[in-house]
Amino acid sequence: MNLEPIITDLLDEIRGTIRYMADSGVTGFECRPETLETIAKWNQPPVPPVLPVLPALSGVEGIGVEGSAAEGSEAEGSEAAKKASGQRAEDSRVEEPVRSSETLEEIRADLGDCTRCRLCENRKNIVFGEGSPQARLLFVGEGPGGDEDVQARPFVGAAGQLLTKIIGAMGLTREEVYIANIIKCRPPNNRNPQPDEIETCFPFLRRQIDAIGPEVICALGKFAAQTLLQTDAPISRLRGRFIDYRGIPVMPTFHPAYLLRNEASKRDTWQDVKKIMGRLGLPLRKTGIRR
Ligand code: SF4
Repeated sequence: MNLEPIITDLLDEIRGTIRYMADSGVTGFECRPETLETIAKWNQPPVPPVLPVLPALSGVEGIGVEGSAAEGSEAEGSEAAKKASGQRAEDSRVEEPVRSSETLEEIRADLGDCTRCRLCENRKNIVFGEGSPQARLLFVGEGPGGDEDVQARPFVGAAGQLLTKIIGAMGLTREEVYIANIIKCRPPNNRNPQPDEIETCFPFLRRQIDAIGPEVICALGKFAAQTLLQTDAPISRLRGRFIDYRGIPVMPTFHPAYLLRNEASKRDTWQDVKKIMGRLGLPLRKTGIRR
């Protein structure tokens, strides 16, 4: 009898219960953050190796390949990842954060009425991103959905409303952070962006990051995390710890759209969010993420 799935479920239950009790302010047992960190690693295999950068992207720092694993899936990395150099995402060389003198307005003007990739054919609007040009915290999602395409604003649908609540639970407003996506035009039928579309569009987000100079990036969902961190590791293994992106700590966490379908994962995301709050020196709250 294979006991591994039973043990994994049991450990998940224990982890979730302890986190819930800690979040609820229960005291009298061992639930310090360091202990929760240790518990979070129980039964977790190491993060799969980093994918090699696509040859066509070799001159573009900080971009990788989209993965195919479902959000929250424990799917293994690709064969390419398994054969990669053995370098790990969390071991990436830490660089000095890049700051450019370019403004967001200049980047938007350069983007123009972009037709650089095929995604221009079906989009209604380019979704450039919005928020404070001096934001300390940058949220990066995958790409615009239907509501975003119509309104030309990021994260305004149901998932966006949940993101707004998460930002509020941090004691911040949308105007104080910056919200953007890996790609700026809605793919047909919300399909995953293709590598050549990412190759074309991602440099604009990269310039936005350099212009804003955030202290922390929160990668929402597997696609944003995998692209920023050049890995095809599933989000369930990437989330929960800071990983360097060109000198900026990135906290991968679940996408709000995933949280809408998986209520239980809000606890994990709240743990991730609290680490971001700690990094930014924001006062920790016990509210958690609600509907
Ligand atoms: S996705 Fe990016 S590169 Fe492609 S058309 Fe839209 S703005 Fe241009």
